[in-house]
Amino acid sequence: MNRSEYKWPYANESGMEEMVQSDVLVLGGGLSGCFAAIAAARKGLSVAIVEKGAIEKSGSAGTGFDHWESACTNPCSGVTAKEIAEAYVREQDWYSNGIAHYIECREGYDRLLDLESFGGKVRDTEDEFVGAEFRDENTKLMFAYDYKNKFTIRVWGSTFKPALYRELKKLGVKIYERTEATGLLVSSDSGGTVRGAGAMGMNVRTGKFYVFRAKSTVLAMSRPARVWLFDPDLTGLCEFRPMQSIGSGHAMGWRAGLEFTMMEKTVRAEFSAAGRSFPPYGAGNNHNTWYAATMVDARGVEIPYVDRDGRELKTVSERYYPAPGQKFFLKGGVIDNPKYEYRGPETLEFDELIKRGYQLPFYADLSRMPESERKVIWGMMIGEEAKTKIPIYQNYTDRGFDPSKHMLQSYGTGWQSANFLEQERQFFGAPGGVMHDWDLKTNVDGIYACGDQLYASDCAGFACATGYYAGRKASDYAKTVGLAEINSQDVQAEKERLYAPLYVRSEEGITWKELNSAISKAMQNYCGGVKCDSLLLEGLDLLKSFEKDIVPSLYAENPHDLMRTHEVMDILTVAQIVLHASLARKSSSQPLCFMRSDYPEIDPACDRKHIVLRQEDGKPVTREVPLDFFGDLEEEYEKRNQRYIREEAVHHE
Ligand SMILES: Cc1cc2nc3c(=O)[nH]c(=O)nc-3n(C[C@H](O)[C@H](O)[C@H](O)COP(=O)(O)OP(=O)(O)OC[C@H]3O[C@@H](n4cnc5c(N)ncnc54)[C@H](O)[C@@H]3O)c2cc1C
Repeated sequence: MNRSEYKWPYANESGMEEMVQSDVLVLGGGLSGCFAAIAAARKGLSVAIVEKGAIEKSGSAGTGFDHWESACTNPCSGVTAKEIAEAYVREQDWYSNGIAHYIECREGYDRLLDLESFGGKVRDTEDEFVGAEFRDENTKLMFAYDYKNKFTIRVWGSTFKPALYRELKKLGVKIYERTEATGLLVSSDSGGTVRGAGAMGMNVRTGKFYVFRAKSTVLAMSRPARVWLFDPDLTGLCEFRPMQSIGSGHAMGWRAGLEFTMMEKTVRAEFSAAGRSFPPYGAGNNHNTWYAATMVDARGVEIPYVDRDGRELKTVSERYYPAPGQKFFLKGGVIDNPKYEYRGPETLEFDELIKRGYQLPFYADLSRMPESERKVIWGMMIGEEAKTKIPIYQNYTDRGFDPSKHMLQSYGTGWQSANFLEQERQFFGAPGGVMHDWDLKTNVDGIYACGDQLYASDCAGFACATGYYAGRKASDYAKTVGLAEINSQDVQAEKERLYAPLYVRSEEGITWKELNSAISKAMQNYCGGVKCDSLLLEGLDLLKSFEKDIVPSLYAENPHDLMRTHEVMDILTVAQIVLHASLARKSSSQPLCFMRSDYPEIDPACDRKHIVLRQEDGKPVTREVPLDFFGDLEEEYEKRNQRYIREEAVHHE
């Protein structure tokens, strides 16, 4: 079919507008957004949720996930919420989100029980793994990683998003799917105090414009992507997270004056970027989902696991227990050093392995593991984890892969499945995001944030727990205020911004893919592995020139392309936030993976602090916040959450 014969299958509603009113508005319908909406609806408030895709399968967890971290309050747990939250903070050298981690550790298991009550599967109810070392026979919960302390639970994550979707409908939440949020509405009173008034958006199939008025708004739109790496031919493989999550929540927050922190932290890319890696979890390895697979070299000689103290472990079982004297370890042994010796080809450990005579290629050999351990890795974890069900588990099985007989080759660094260049960066490993207080409130009254949109965020339990928490705090606020006035000029300006690409002629225009490629090239050149003021300033100039010269030439032929175009305009904004944040830090930092040639000193004591950044009248404004600003985690949490402790947490016991 040639282009002229193609007919857009949806109604054209691009001149239409609808106004929606609710007490609480949630932007983003992933794990965190769904839980924010559920918390508000349970409080009896009217709730609207806006999701760019279809909630039943949208977001990072839409295809599933395999383990639930930090279920510290489950009946088998050997650790407290405080111990694990503080361990996260220490592990990240205090560039960490103590508040959100504590909420995750304290309330996460309550959310898992919620998911079960909505129809999600969290226990081995079919008794498939009876007798396995990781299964608790009373509760039928199955644990991962640390079998002594039992705070990470293996789950059937692919059942969770459909369950959440059903619950939203049951609670009467107003659901706006296939609708992108594009801008926040803020309102200032006569005294100049600014507060959230809602948001604007567009249906990505029909082009209809929406104004969502609300007393409070929760941001749940995940984190940036495609800033350094983009392949116009393999767009869906450009990032680890879903294609539609590119940090538009950050971009609209920046435009509205919200504060961010740690935006200078970016790691060398690790995963599925621009088609240059194998599908995540598709190569044999021993990390994360594949922990603690037996690894062998080309001759079939086993590569040993060692404990924190370097003691070689003789049995498979020992890989799952802390070392003598060690209280607990996090996923794969992160606390107090890794629990495996094998790290991968480009690390020092690899040189050591080669020196000792191990030969490439390496393989994961599940056939040498006890049957229950093999089955739980290949069939449950590989199957439930993100996009593994069809691309990995089903496809490999259909092609004859049998883990009881075959080994799976390990590529790259084992779990990362590819090697990237220093300048190929990614938002990964607890990156920067929205700054917030103990209510998960941003610096603007009435605007809250949760999940991967928060700074230093990480996992599913974190997303669900912070989503619910933000939803309940946003509800408490909504009960105290009326709807804020909205400014019709802001609405008009947003419409002009959004629809402009429809009026550019294709022969003269530039597509979103071209701009995305240009941004990523610019970021590799000017904000790569090693940074300095002059590079960063040149980068800013270049991005400004894109805004001036390229953005007015962007064209789109239909609402879907228009959405992609809006996304890249947001990526352009995110890239500038990163450059501003990088300029603001005048030293190098190991935990922030931040190296400067003009300020090479690593983590000087005077710079060990959060640099918090926002935009005012187009200019960046910074302030500094101590890394321990959250205080004693347990004490501060309990001060603010007595009602939850009395009423809701008890309900889950
Ligand atoms: C491959 C993979 C495997 C993972 N495995 C695990 C695991 O095993 N265990 C674990 O604990 N964690 C895991 N995680 C992390 C976990 O899935 C995420 O941390 C969690 O889902 C984040 O939830 P969220 O609600 O913040 O974001 P998401 O679930 O990503 O949801 C964000 C939502 O916002 C929507 N959105 C984005 N922009 C807009 C916009 N402008 N307007 C409207 N909607 C918008 C998106 O469509 C999406 O639905 C994994 C992540 C990935 C990518």
